[in-house]
Amino acid sequence: MITIKSAREIELLKQAGYIVYETHQYLKPYIKPGIMTKDLDHLAEEFIRSHGATPSFKGYEGFPTALCISVNDEVVHGFPSDRKLQNGDIVSIDIGACYKGYHGDSAWTYKVGEISKDLEYLMEHTEKALYEGIKMVKPGNRIGDIANAIEVYATKHKLGIVKELVGHGVGTNVHEDPEVPNYGKKGTGPRLREGMVIAIEPMLTLGSPDIYIDDNDWTVITEDGSYAAHFEHTVVVTKDGVEILTGE
Ligand code: MG
Ligand code: MG
Repeated sequence: MITIKSAREIELLKQAGYIVYETHQYLKPYIKPGIMTKDLDHLAEEFIRSHGATPSFKGYEGFPTALCISVNDEVVHGFPSDRKLQNGDIVSIDIGACYKGYHGDSAWTYKVGEISKDLEYLMEHTEKALYEGIKMVKPGNRIGDIANAIEVYATKHKLGIVKELVGHGVGTNVHEDPEVPNYGKKGTGPRLREGMVIAIEPMLTLGSPDIYIDDNDWTVITEDGSYAAHFEHTVVVTKDGVEILTGE
């Protein structure tokens, strides 16, 4: 069921989204060669809790940590660990925070030190694909309009679209209806209405978009080892268009 949020709920979703945004900003200077991904997780959890919120993903269907941290060929749901980030890596950090019962959800891919031109390209165009999707958000448009805009952009830039994973509604649950795929047909799917809150999150790869699940039952990895990027914002459908809740 797709829910329409009240003004009071949207205010709380904004506060949750802002904590997620601030957590990303707080982590950025730490994303350097040599840091262990579990250190980033601990820093973020402490930051989220110090702002009166809780990490949305910790304990969600058994997920063990505050953040999902996915490196290189890991697409999403990576476990923070003793792994040290290395120069030339890319790292996708997915952050969820729950404030007074309402969630915010945003992922961003960061470079570690100096990265190759190909990886710069992957990051630039995955982020742009997210904004192509966001541009389609306004009352009366449909979920398929968002999905199609992302697909067209990604395809034009010859990036692989991971199709098994999708965006979603956000509210008192971090994952709600509707599903927001990264491919689809214009004019299809649920209609957007003022007060709907959704997370849009393209996951794109430099090679084949085929994936498998790691032995840990969570981490999604590309079949051919190609690197993946993941950019996500939580947004609200406003009277005239869209407002991003997890960023600027
Ligand atoms: Mg997320
Ligand atoms: Mg999400």
